[in-house]
Amino acid sequence: MKKTLKDVNVSNKTVLVRVDFNVPIKDGVITDDNRIRAALPTINYLIEKNSKVVLFSHLSRIKEEADKAKKSLRPIAEKLEELLGKKVFFVDQTRGKELENSINNLKNGEVLLFENTRFEDVKDNEVVKYESKNNEELGKYWASLGDLFVNDAFGTAHRKHASNVGIASNISESCVGFLVQKELEMLAKGIDNPEHPFIAIIGGAKVSDKIGVIDNLLTKADKIIIGGGMAYTFFKAQGHSIGKSLCEEDKVELAKSYLEKSNGKIVLPVDSATNNEFKDSPANFAGLDLPEDQMGLDIGPKSIELFQDLLKGAKTVAWNGPMGVFEFEHYKKGTVGVCEAIANLKDAFTLIGGGDSAAAAIQLGYKDKFTHISTGGGASLEYMEGKVLPGIDIIQNK
Ligand code: ADP
Ligand code: MG
Repeated sequence: MKKTLKDVNVSNKTVLVRVDFNVPIKDGVITDDNRIRAALPTINYLIEKNSKVVLFSHLSRIKEEADKAKKSLRPIAEKLEELLGKKVFFVDQTRGKELENSINNLKNGEVLLFENTRFEDVKDNEVVKYESKNNEELGKYWASLGDLFVNDAFGTAHRKHASNVGIASNISESCVGFLVQKELEMLAKGIDNPEHPFIAIIGGAKVSDKIGVIDNLLTKADKIIIGGGMAYTFFKAQGHSIGKSLCEEDKVELAKSYLEKSNGKIVLPVDSATNNEFKDSPANFAGLDLPEDQMGLDIGPKSIELFQDLLKGAKTVAWNGPMGVFEFEHYKKGTVGVCEAIANLKDAFTLIGGGDSAAAAIQLGYKDKFTHISTGGGASLEYMEGKVLPGIDIIQNK
Protein backbone atom coordinates (compact mmCIF):
# COMPACT_ATOMS: atom_id res chain seq x y z
CA MET A 1 0.00 0.00 0.00
CA LYS A 2 1.25 3.44 -0.93
CA LYS A 3 1.66 6.16 1.67
CA THR A 4 -1.17 8.66 1.55
CA LEU A 5 -1.39 12.26 2.74
CA LYS A 6 -2.68 11.09 6.10
CA ASP A 7 0.44 8.97 6.62
CA VAL A 8 2.92 11.84 6.45
CA ASN A 9 3.56 14.96 8.47
CA VAL A 10 3.07 17.94 6.20
CA SER A 11 2.79 20.76 8.75
CA ASN A 12 5.24 23.65 8.28
CA LYS A 13 6.89 21.77 5.42
CA THR A 14 7.46 22.79 1.83
CA VAL A 15 5.35 20.25 0.00
CA LEU A 16 5.91 19.63 -3.71
CA VAL A 17 2.65 18.55 -5.31
CA ARG A 18 2.45 17.15 -8.83
CA VAL A 19 -1.08 17.91 -9.98
CA ASP A 20 -2.80 17.31 -13.30
CA PHE A 21 -3.81 20.74 -14.56
CA ASN A 22 -3.73 19.61 -18.18
CA VAL A 23 -7.02 21.36 -18.96
CA PRO A 24 -8.39 22.45 -22.35
CA ILE A 25 -7.67 26.13 -23.00
CA LYS A 26 -9.13 28.08 -25.93
CA ASP A 27 -7.95 31.64 -26.62
CA GLY A 28 -6.59 31.91 -23.09
CA VAL A 29 -9.87 30.70 -21.52
CA ILE A 30 -10.19 27.39 -19.67
CA THR A 31 -13.12 25.53 -21.22
CA ASP A 32 -13.32 22.73 -18.62
CA ASP A 33 -11.92 23.19 -15.12
CA ASN A 34 -12.78 19.74 -13.75
CA ARG A 35 -9.17 18.72 -13.39
CA ILE A 36 -8.39 21.80 -11.32
CA ARG A 37 -11.41 21.14 -9.11
CA ALA A 38 -10.34 17.53 -8.69
CA ALA A 39 -7.08 18.67 -7.09
CA LEU A 40 -8.75 20.96 -4.54
CA PRO A 41 -9.16 18.41 -1.70
CA THR A 42 -5.40 17.82 -1.58
CA ILE A 43 -4.54 21.51 -1.89
CA ASN A 44 -7.07 22.60 0.74
CA TYR A 45 -5.87 19.91 3.13
CA LEU A 46 -2.28 21.13 2.80
CA ILE A 47 -3.37 24.74 3.35
CA GLU A 48 -5.24 23.71 6.49
CA LYS A 49 -2.18 21.84 7.71
CA ASN A 50 -0.03 24.96 7.29
CA SER A 51 2.16 23.59 4.54
CA LYS A 52 3.94 25.72 1.99
CA VAL A 53 2.26 24.35 -1.11
CA VAL A 54 4.29 24.21 -4.33
CA LEU A 55 2.19 23.01 -7.27
CA PHE A 56 3.30 22.06 -10.75
CA SER A 57 1.81 20.36 -13.78
CA HIS A 58 2.32 19.77 -17.44
CA LEU A 59 0.00 21.32 -20.00
CA SER A 60 -0.29 19.70 -23.40
CA ARG A 61 2.96 19.09 -25.30
CA ILE A 62 5.82 21.41 -26.08
CA LYS A 63 7.51 20.60 -29.38
CA GLU A 64 9.12 23.94 -30.17
CA GLU A 65 9.89 27.25 -28.49
CA ALA A 66 6.87 28.88 -30.17
CA ASP A 67 4.47 26.50 -28.35
CA LYS A 68 5.37 28.04 -25.02
CA ALA A 69 3.42 31.28 -25.49
CA LYS A 70 0.11 29.37 -25.73
CA LYS A 71 0.93 26.71 -23.15
CA SER A 72 1.60 28.80 -20.07
CA LEU A 73 -0.07 27.83 -16.78
CA ARG A 74 -0.81 31.48 -15.99
CA PRO A 75 -4.57 31.23 -16.79
CA ILE A 76 -4.67 28.15 -14.58
CA ALA A 77 -3.13 30.06 -11.67
CA GLU A 78 -5.88 32.66 -12.05
CA LYS A 79 -8.58 29.99 -12.16
CA LEU A 80 -7.13 28.23 -9.14
CA GLU A 81 -7.04 31.48 -7.21
CA GLU A 82 -10.74 31.92 -7.96
CA LEU A 83 -11.60 28.33 -6.92
CA LEU A 84 -9.53 28.46 -3.72
CA GLY A 85 -10.61 31.98 -2.83
CA LYS A 86 -6.99 32.60 -1.98
CA LYS A 87 -3.88 34.15 -3.51
CA VAL A 88 -1.89 31.83 -5.77
CA PHE A 89 1.67 32.98 -6.48
CA PHE A 90 2.56 32.18 -10.07
CA VAL A 91 6.19 31.90 -11.25
CA ASP A 92 6.60 31.75 -15.02
CA GLN A 93 9.78 29.67 -14.73
CA THR A 94 10.52 26.00 -14.25
CA ARG A 95 13.85 26.57 -12.49
CA GLY A 96 16.24 29.30 -11.38
CA LYS A 97 16.73 32.03 -8.77
CA GLU A 98 13.31 33.65 -9.14
CA LEU A 99 11.56 30.33 -8.54
CA GLU A 100 13.85 29.41 -5.63
CA ASN A 101 13.41 32.81 -3.96
CA SER A 102 9.64 32.71 -4.38
CA ILE A 103 9.50 29.28 -2.75
CA ASN A 104 11.79 30.40 0.08
CA ASN A 105 9.56 33.41 0.69
CA LEU A 106 6.38 31.34 0.99
CA LYS A 107 4.70 31.42 4.36
CA ASN A 108 2.84 28.51 5.91
CA GLY A 109 -0.50 27.97 4.20
CA GLU A 110 0.49 29.84 1.02
CA VAL A 111 0.23 28.41 -2.47
CA LEU A 112 2.58 28.75 -5.43
CA LEU A 113 2.25 27.35 -8.94
CA PHE A 114 5.22 27.23 -11.27
CA GLU A 115 5.30 27.05 -15.05
CA ASN A 116 4.43 24.11 -17.32
CA THR A 117 6.86 21.27 -16.55
CA ARG A 118 7.06 20.45 -20.27
CA PHE A 119 8.73 23.78 -20.96
CA GLU A 120 11.74 21.67 -19.96
CA ASP A 121 11.25 19.58 -23.10
CA VAL A 122 12.52 22.36 -25.38
CA LYS A 123 15.56 24.56 -24.68
CA ASP A 124 16.65 27.27 -27.14
CA ASN A 125 14.54 25.60 -29.79
CA GLU A 126 16.21 22.26 -29.34
CA VAL A 127 14.08 19.28 -28.32
CA VAL A 128 15.72 17.94 -25.14
CA LYS A 129 12.77 16.31 -23.31
CA TYR A 130 14.28 16.83 -19.86
CA GLU A 131 10.81 16.44 -18.34
CA SER A 132 9.40 13.72 -20.59
CA LYS A 133 12.56 11.60 -20.59
CA ASN A 134 13.05 11.96 -16.85
CA ASN A 135 16.38 13.81 -17.02
CA GLU A 136 18.21 12.92 -13.82
CA GLU A 137 19.53 16.37 -13.04
CA LEU A 138 16.07 17.94 -13.45
CA GLY A 139 14.38 15.45 -11.10
CA LYS A 140 17.10 16.07 -8.52
CA TYR A 141 16.79 19.82 -8.90
CA TRP A 142 13.01 19.87 -8.48
CA ALA A 143 13.28 17.51 -5.50
CA SER A 144 15.74 19.96 -3.88
CA LEU A 145 13.02 22.64 -3.80
CA GLY A 146 10.92 20.96 -1.10
CA ASP A 147 10.77 18.64 1.90
CA LEU A 148 8.37 16.04 0.58
CA PHE A 149 6.60 15.01 -2.58
CA VAL A 150 2.90 14.35 -3.16
CA ASN A 151 1.84 12.76 -6.42
CA ASP A 152 -1.76 13.73 -7.13
CA ALA A 153 -1.58 13.55 -10.93
CA PHE A 154 -3.25 10.31 -11.93
CA GLY A 155 -3.40 11.29 -15.60
CA THR A 156 0.38 11.02 -15.97
CA ALA A 157 0.92 8.11 -13.56
CA HIS A 158 1.68 5.79 -16.49
CA ARG A 159 4.56 8.03 -17.56
CA LYS A 160 8.08 8.05 -16.19
CA HIS A 161 8.75 11.77 -16.12
CA ALA A 162 11.03 14.06 -14.10
CA SER A 163 8.02 15.69 -12.41
CA ASN A 164 6.81 12.41 -10.93
CA VAL A 165 9.36 9.57 -10.99
CA GLY A 166 12.38 11.92 -11.07
CA ILE A 167 11.35 13.88 -7.98
CA ALA A 168 10.11 10.84 -6.06
CA SER A 169 13.46 9.07 -6.54
CA ASN A 170 15.37 12.03 -5.16
CA ILE A 171 13.41 13.08 -2.09
CA SER A 172 13.32 11.66 1.42
CA GLU A 173 9.55 11.27 1.67
CA SER A 174 6.71 10.75 -0.81
CA CYS A 175 3.03 9.87 -0.83
CA VAL A 176 -0.03 9.98 -3.08
CA GLY A 177 -2.62 12.76 -2.85
CA PHE A 178 -6.35 12.26 -2.27
CA LEU A 179 -7.23 12.08 -5.96
CA VAL A 180 -4.67 9.39 -6.76
CA GLN A 181 -5.57 7.53 -3.57
CA LYS A 182 -9.21 7.36 -4.66
CA GLU A 183 -8.31 6.27 -8.19
CA LEU A 184 -6.17 3.45 -6.83
CA GLU A 185 -8.83 2.28 -4.40
CA MET A 186 -11.50 2.28 -7.11
CA LEU A 187 -9.38 0.56 -9.74
CA ALA A 188 -8.26 -2.07 -7.25
CA LYS A 189 -11.87 -2.78 -6.38
CA GLY A 190 -13.06 -2.86 -9.98
CA ILE A 191 -10.18 -4.73 -11.58
CA ASP A 192 -8.06 -6.59 -9.03
CA ASN A 193 -10.61 -7.66 -6.43
CA PRO A 194 -13.95 -7.62 -8.24
CA GLU A 195 -17.07 -9.09 -6.77
CA HIS A 196 -18.59 -11.63 -9.19
CA PRO A 197 -20.31 -11.76 -11.60
CA PHE A 198 -17.74 -9.42 -13.12
CA ILE A 199 -18.58 -8.22 -16.63
CA ALA A 200 -16.04 -6.27 -18.67
CA ILE A 201 -17.12 -4.19 -21.64
CA ILE A 202 -14.45 -3.33 -24.18
CA GLY A 203 -14.93 -1.18 -27.22
CA GLY A 204 -13.38 1.66 -29.12
CA ALA A 205 -11.78 1.88 -32.48
CA LYS A 206 -8.86 -0.52 -32.51
CA VAL A 207 -8.09 -4.04 -31.32
CA SER A 208 -4.41 -3.15 -31.12
CA ASP A 209 -5.15 -0.52 -28.43
CA LYS A 210 -7.02 -3.02 -26.30
CA ILE A 211 -5.14 -6.30 -26.59
CA GLY A 212 -3.56 -5.80 -23.18
CA VAL A 213 -6.92 -5.12 -21.56
CA ILE A 214 -8.51 -8.20 -23.12
CA ASP A 215 -5.53 -10.28 -22.04
CA ASN A 216 -5.64 -9.14 -18.45
CA LEU A 217 -9.41 -9.25 -18.06
CA LEU A 218 -9.77 -12.71 -19.63
CA THR A 219 -8.31 -14.12 -16.43
CA LYS A 220 -10.51 -12.01 -14.17
CA ALA A 221 -13.91 -11.36 -15.76
CA ASP A 222 -16.81 -13.78 -16.13
CA LYS A 223 -17.77 -12.25 -19.48
CA ILE A 224 -16.09 -9.83 -21.85
CA ILE A 225 -18.45 -7.90 -24.07
CA ILE A 226 -16.74 -6.54 -27.16
CA GLY A 227 -18.25 -3.73 -29.21
CA GLY A 228 -17.15 -0.69 -31.19
CA GLY A 229 -14.97 -0.65 -34.26
CA MET A 230 -12.72 -3.37 -32.88
CA ALA A 231 -15.54 -5.92 -33.05
CA TYR A 232 -15.19 -6.09 -36.84
CA THR A 233 -11.72 -7.59 -36.68
CA PHE A 234 -13.28 -10.35 -34.55
CA PHE A 235 -16.14 -10.78 -37.06
CA LYS A 236 -13.59 -11.11 -39.83
CA ALA A 237 -11.83 -13.77 -37.77
CA GLN A 238 -15.12 -15.68 -37.68
CA GLY A 239 -15.41 -15.47 -41.46
CA HIS A 240 -18.17 -12.85 -41.62
CA SER A 241 -18.29 -10.14 -44.26
CA ILE A 242 -17.66 -6.79 -42.68
CA GLY A 243 -18.04 -4.49 -45.69
CA LYS A 244 -16.08 -1.26 -45.29
CA SER A 245 -15.91 -1.46 -41.47
CA LEU A 246 -12.75 -0.80 -39.53
CA CYS A 247 -10.50 -3.84 -39.62
CA GLU A 248 -6.92 -4.50 -38.59
CA GLU A 249 -5.86 -7.19 -41.01
CA ASP A 250 -2.73 -7.98 -39.03
CA LYS A 251 -4.81 -8.66 -35.92
CA VAL A 252 -7.31 -11.09 -37.45
CA GLU A 253 -5.32 -14.17 -36.43
CA LEU A 254 -4.89 -12.82 -32.94
CA ALA A 255 -8.62 -12.15 -32.67
CA LYS A 256 -9.22 -15.74 -33.75
CA SER A 257 -6.91 -17.06 -31.06
CA TYR A 258 -8.67 -14.98 -28.40
CA LEU A 259 -12.05 -16.29 -29.47
CA GLU A 260 -10.72 -19.84 -29.18
CA LYS A 261 -9.04 -19.47 -25.82
CA SER A 262 -11.87 -17.44 -24.28
CA ASN A 263 -14.18 -20.47 -24.20
CA GLY A 264 -17.28 -18.41 -24.77
CA LYS A 265 -16.24 -15.71 -22.33
CA ILE A 266 -15.98 -13.18 -25.15
CA VAL A 267 -19.38 -12.01 -26.38
CA LEU A 268 -19.62 -10.19 -29.70
CA PRO A 269 -22.48 -8.08 -31.07
CA VAL A 270 -25.07 -9.81 -33.26
CA ASP A 271 -26.00 -6.85 -35.46
CA SER A 272 -24.78 -3.43 -36.54
CA ALA A 273 -25.97 0.07 -37.31
CA THR A 274 -24.24 0.92 -40.58
CA ASN A 275 -23.72 3.64 -43.13
CA ASN A 276 -22.17 3.72 -46.58
CA GLU A 277 -19.56 6.18 -45.39
CA PHE A 278 -18.21 7.64 -42.17
CA LYS A 279 -20.89 10.26 -41.67
CA ASP A 280 -23.69 11.17 -39.30
CA SER A 281 -26.80 10.37 -41.32
CA PRO A 282 -29.62 7.90 -40.47
CA ALA A 283 -28.45 4.33 -39.96
CA ASN A 284 -29.06 1.20 -41.96
CA PHE A 285 -29.11 -2.08 -40.09
CA ALA A 286 -27.41 -5.39 -40.75
CA GLY A 287 -27.04 -8.74 -39.00
CA LEU A 288 -23.75 -10.59 -38.62
CA ASP A 289 -22.81 -10.03 -42.25
CA LEU A 290 -22.59 -6.52 -43.64
CA PRO A 291 -23.25 -5.59 -47.28
CA GLU A 292 -20.11 -4.74 -49.28
CA ASP A 293 -20.82 -1.00 -49.39
CA GLN A 294 -21.59 -0.55 -45.67
CA MET A 295 -19.47 0.17 -42.63
CA GLY A 296 -20.49 -0.64 -39.08
CA LEU A 297 -20.61 2.48 -36.93
CA ASP A 298 -22.51 1.18 -33.91
CA ILE A 299 -23.90 -2.04 -32.46
CA GLY A 300 -27.50 -2.71 -33.53
CA PRO A 301 -30.71 -3.02 -31.44
CA LYS A 302 -30.45 -6.82 -30.96
CA SER A 303 -26.94 -6.43 -29.60
CA ILE A 304 -28.08 -3.72 -27.21
CA GLU A 305 -30.71 -6.11 -25.91
CA LEU A 306 -28.20 -8.95 -25.65
CA PHE A 307 -25.67 -6.83 -23.77
CA GLN A 308 -28.33 -5.43 -21.46
CA ASP A 309 -29.40 -8.98 -20.59
CA LEU A 310 -25.83 -10.03 -19.89
CA LEU A 311 -25.31 -7.07 -17.61
CA LYS A 312 -28.33 -7.92 -15.45
CA GLY A 313 -27.20 -9.20 -12.08
CA ALA A 314 -23.60 -8.07 -12.50
CA LYS A 315 -21.87 -7.14 -9.26
CA THR A 316 -18.90 -5.49 -10.95
CA VAL A 317 -18.73 -3.81 -14.35
CA ALA A 318 -15.54 -2.39 -15.86
CA TRP A 319 -15.94 -0.48 -19.10
CA ASN A 320 -13.35 0.73 -21.54
CA GLY A 321 -14.20 1.96 -25.02
CA PRO A 322 -17.50 3.13 -26.56
CA MET A 323 -19.78 0.73 -28.48
CA GLY A 324 -19.93 2.94 -31.55
CA VAL A 325 -19.21 6.38 -32.93
CA PHE A 326 -21.02 8.03 -30.04
CA GLU A 327 -19.93 11.44 -31.31
CA PHE A 328 -22.50 10.99 -34.09
CA GLU A 329 -26.15 11.56 -33.15
CA HIS A 330 -27.24 8.54 -35.22
CA TYR A 331 -24.63 6.15 -33.84
CA LYS A 332 -24.69 6.74 -30.11
CA LYS A 333 -27.50 4.30 -29.27
CA GLY A 334 -25.22 1.37 -28.46
CA THR A 335 -23.19 3.41 -26.02
CA VAL A 336 -26.35 4.91 -24.50
CA GLY A 337 -27.80 1.39 -24.20
CA VAL A 338 -24.82 0.19 -22.23
CA CYS A 339 -24.92 3.30 -20.01
CA GLU A 340 -28.62 2.68 -19.44
CA ALA A 341 -28.05 -0.97 -18.46
CA ILE A 342 -25.32 0.03 -16.05
CA ALA A 343 -27.45 2.83 -14.59
CA ASN A 344 -30.17 0.27 -13.83
CA LEU A 345 -27.90 -2.04 -11.84
CA LYS A 346 -28.55 -2.10 -8.14
CA ASP A 347 -25.69 -2.70 -5.71
CA ALA A 348 -23.09 -3.07 -8.43
CA PHE A 349 -19.64 -1.53 -8.50
CA THR A 350 -19.32 0.18 -11.88
CA LEU A 351 -16.16 1.66 -13.27
CA ILE A 352 -15.12 3.47 -16.45
CA GLY A 353 -11.52 3.71 -17.54
CA GLY A 354 -10.51 5.26 -20.84
CA GLY A 355 -10.71 8.85 -22.02
CA ASP A 356 -13.36 8.52 -24.72
CA SER A 357 -15.61 6.19 -22.74
CA ALA A 358 -15.51 8.58 -19.79
CA ALA A 359 -16.26 11.51 -22.12
CA ALA A 360 -19.12 9.52 -23.68
CA ALA A 361 -20.76 8.66 -20.35
CA ILE A 362 -20.48 12.26 -19.18
CA GLN A 363 -21.65 13.76 -22.48
CA LEU A 364 -24.62 11.38 -22.64
CA GLY A 365 -25.72 12.36 -19.14
CA TYR A 366 -24.69 9.31 -17.10
CA LYS A 367 -21.95 10.86 -15.00
CA ASP A 368 -23.66 10.17 -11.67
CA LYS A 369 -24.70 6.64 -12.55
CA PHE A 370 -21.25 5.11 -12.23
CA THR A 371 -19.45 4.29 -9.01
CA HIS A 372 -16.28 5.73 -10.49
CA ILE A 373 -15.21 7.40 -13.72
CA SER A 374 -11.45 7.51 -13.87
CA THR A 375 -9.82 10.87 -14.55
CA GLY A 376 -6.85 9.30 -16.29
CA GLY A 377 -7.53 7.92 -19.77
CA GLY A 378 -4.12 6.40 -20.54
CA ALA A 379 -3.32 5.61 -16.93
CA SER A 380 -6.58 3.76 -16.31
CA LEU A 381 -6.16 1.89 -19.59
CA GLU A 382 -2.71 0.70 -18.49
CA TYR A 383 -4.07 -0.23 -15.08
CA MET A 384 -6.73 -2.33 -16.81
CA GLU A 385 -3.94 -4.00 -18.75
CA GLY A 386 -2.44 -5.04 -15.43
CA LYS A 387 0.61 -2.87 -15.98
CA VAL A 388 2.59 -1.19 -13.22
CA LEU A 389 2.20 2.60 -13.26
CA PRO A 390 5.70 4.06 -12.77
CA GLY A 391 4.45 7.33 -11.24
CA ILE A 392 2.70 5.34 -8.49
CA ASP A 393 5.19 2.53 -8.15
CA ILE A 394 7.97 4.94 -7.14
CA ILE A 395 5.94 6.37 -4.22
CA GLN A 396 6.95 5.06 -0.80
CA ASN A 397 4.96 2.24 0.75
CA LYS A 398 3.33 2.53 4.16
P1 ADP B 1 -11.15 5.02 -24.89
O1 ADP B 1 -10.53 6.39 -25.01
O2 ADP B 1 -12.34 5.03 -23.99
O3 ADP B 1 -10.15 3.98 -24.52
P2 ADP B 1 -10.91 4.51 -27.70
O4 ADP B 1 -10.00 5.67 -27.84
O5 ADP B 1 -10.35 3.17 -27.81
O6 ADP B 1 -11.75 4.62 -26.33
O7 ADP B 1 -12.06 4.59 -28.81
C1 ADP B 1 -12.91 5.69 -28.95
C2 ADP B 1 -13.25 5.97 -30.37
O8 ADP B 1 -13.68 4.82 -31.06
C3 ADP B 1 -14.36 6.96 -30.47
O9 ADP B 1 -13.87 8.17 -31.01
C4 ADP B 1 -15.37 6.30 -31.40
O10 ADP B 1 -15.91 7.19 -32.36
C5 ADP B 1 -14.55 5.24 -32.08
N1 ADP B 1 -15.40 4.14 -32.56
C6 ADP B 1 -16.21 3.35 -31.83
N2 ADP B 1 -16.86 2.48 -32.62
C7 ADP B 1 -16.44 2.71 -33.88
C8 ADP B 1 -16.75 2.14 -35.16
N3 ADP B 1 -17.63 1.14 -35.27
N4 ADP B 1 -16.11 2.64 -36.23
C9 ADP B 1 -15.24 3.65 -36.12
N5 ADP B 1 -14.91 4.22 -34.96
C10 ADP B 1 -15.50 3.77 -33.85
MG1 MG C 1 -9.31 7.24 -26.60
